[in-house]
Amino acid sequence: MERLSREGKLGRALLGADQRLADPACREVLTDLGEASGRTLKEVLDGTGVSARTYLRWILFFDGRAPDACKSKHTIAATDPGSRVVFICPLAFVEIERSNPEYAEATLIHEMLHSLGLGENPPRSGKSRSACCPAAPRRSMRRRQALSCCSGRGASARADQMISGAIRG
Ligand SMILES: [Zn+2]
Repeated sequence: MERLSREGKLGRALLGADQRLADPACREVLTDLGEASGRTLKEVLDGTGVSARTYLRWILFFDGRAPDACKSKHTIAATDPGSRVVFICPLAFVEIERSNPEYAEATLIHEMLHSLGLGENPPRSGKSRSACCPAAPRRSMRRRQALSCCSGRGASARADQMISGAIRG
């Protein structure tokens, strides 16, 4: 599997996501959403001892094509709840970064929420959602968002195991 550089389109979107997370209104999404055992994502994050912005830097981005994490041409990114590995689907990501950069940033934050343990079909949270994740401009984009959400089907868990020794700490 190919680790993606934090430069280019991904780097630009990460910078935007980082700036969003600097806004307390955006970070409210962490207290509004939780993982399966009932903890809020904020509690999960606090357990890591780092800020949301630092946690975003902890995430490892891999090309999602080789592990077959890009289920359709509309899949932008994928991961498994609790995994620090996020797969990027390069063709869809580059396209969305070009046509709707805010959406690309929101997608990265969305994947970060999964990385903290968020499962599928999270409850809606109006305020935080709008602060963190701007609405997609077209209905078809919403459908794409649903498609991009977001199971790596175990691929990211396997990647976690492969690299856990090298990246821990
Ligand atoms: Zn998702």
